Amino acid sequence: MADTIYDVAIIGSGPAGYTAAIRAGQLGLSTALIEKDPYLGGTCLHVGCIPTKSLLFNAEVYDHVKDGDALGIENLTPKLNWGTIMKRKQGIVDKHAKGLQFLMKKNKVTVIEGYGKLTGPAQGGIHTVEVEGKSGKSTIKAKNVILSTGSVARMLPGLKADDRILTNIEVLGLNDIPKSLIVIGSGAVGVEFASIYKSFGADVTVLEMLPRYVPVEDEEISKELARVYRKRGINGFVNAKVETVERTKGGVAVTFTVDGKQQKIEADKVLIAVGRAPRTENVGIEKTKIEVERDFVKVDEYMRTAEPGIYAIGDIAMGYPQLAHSGAMEGIVAVTHIAGKPVKPINKLRIPNATYCHPEIGSVGLTEAKAKEFGYDVKVGKFPFTANSRASIVGSHDGFVKIVTDKKYGEILGVHIIGPNATELIAESVVALELECTAEHLANIIHAHPTLSEAMLDAANAVFGMPINA
Ligand SMILES: Cc1cc2nc3c(=O)[nH]c(=O)nc-3n(C[C@H](O)[C@H](O)[C@H](O)COP(=O)(O)OP(=O)(O)OC[C@H]3O[C@@H](n4cnc5c(N)ncnc54)[C@H](O)[C@@H]3O)c2cc1C
Repeated sequence: MADTIYDVAIIGSGPAGYTAAIRAGQLGLSTALIEKDPYLGGTCLHVGCIPTKSLLFNAEVYDHVKDGDALGIENLTPKLNWGTIMKRKQGIVDKHAKGLQFLMKKNKVTVIEGYGKLTGPAQGGIHTVEVEGKSGKSTIKAKNVILSTGSVARMLPGLKADDRILTNIEVLGLNDIPKSLIVIGSGAVGVEFASIYKSFGADVTVLEMLPRYVPVEDEEISKELARVYRKRGINGFVNAKVETVERTKGGVAVTFTVDGKQQKIEADKVLIAVGRAPRTENVGIEKTKIEVERDFVKVDEYMRTAEPGIYAIGDIAMGYPQLAHSGAMEGIVAVTHIAGKPVKPINKLRIPNATYCHPEIGSVGLTEAKAKEFGYDVKVGKFPFTANSRASIVGSHDGFVKIVTDKKYGEILGVHIIGPNATELIAESVVALELECTAEHLANIIHAHPTLSEAMLDAANAVFGMPINA
């Protein structure tokens, strides 16, 4: 192995790393992908995006079945088979992990199983990566290195994950459905698991330290989610400062304060969903000029670090959202730059957010508050799903589409959707922002009927006070 000099060596095979590897192969770069686990795909495929969405699909179907009478499908007595649900989830994960192996072969990427570490700056333009695998240590030589080592769940101080204090890893491997679950943190991961286990029948409580759920979203989205969660019977506390998490005889007890008032609740399990810490320790960064802040790697618009020839992408890249699709595009930017081809840096305002709880959330661009903060004279168009015929057909009326525009030129600055299929609907808005669409453009684009996407059309018309259906 030591004789081969790769064009690029990629450390970590999550969505950032594997996408970079595939594109590198397509661009004709000789590529090595180093992965410490015996499978490819990282957090996203094994303990993140994919298994959670598999469970969310089960939860959605189960909710529909519970509502069978209203749909005229009577006498259904739905019963969950947890074993089958988990087996299906694993089947999906395994299928796509296998698919990644095939894609690496197809694109002539050399996959190396082992733990990769930088050894220092390049010597004569060639980097050396130390790889510790099952059969001992070896080295890989490459002209460029991409770090895509991903992230791990942050823990509350003094806590360690076990069978009751869970992170995303343990909560995806439970032997059965807990009767009660406390979720600490209401970001995407927290509200998705709250949604799943509520649908499956657990008594769920969400504790959020900030004044609102999904704090990165537009304030009205948070308000609507809180309203629907209350309606669904999901208990919730905002401004909740968790003080202790303790194991009790049969479960866990969480003590927290809200507005100075201390409270204690108990449950079978607690999920800690307070963010993700970049995995940048013990990869040899300290031997290079790479700059790190709060464990994130500083990068430029081409994902270059301060060390020549070393790039960083995905959850470790500073200033980018910790999202699979962002990491994937960062990978494409990095390898296209390495290949010396023209490449457009990522516009961070055009990276969509997708949260797959029920109701779903999809958003892109500026929130109303941020647009005002940036000095825009803001004009908003809002349309509720209650007035959308397709939403009536699919029996999902909660939520709305909100379009934030700049009054002066009508440019769309941000779109915020909460409601049925919001994570799919947001794609149109990303294109609209990318093409610098105005609300007028959007209001003149014909949307098929009856579709949920017509809510976009109505919201665009609502910017001018003329929605057709409300
Ligand atoms: C529960 C949950 C749900 C999520 N849902 C979504 C979602 O729906 N949509 C979305 O966009 N994002 C979602 N995310 C976030 C998404 O999973 C991450 O943004 C994404 O996985 C980051 O990709 P990455 O390639 O940077 O890192 P990772 O996916 O974390 O992969 C890093 C890889 O590097 C390997 N590695 C680390 N160090 C070394 C080393 N030294 N040598 C060799 N290999 C190494 C790891 O084993 C791993 O395979 C979710 C996350 C969680 C936890």
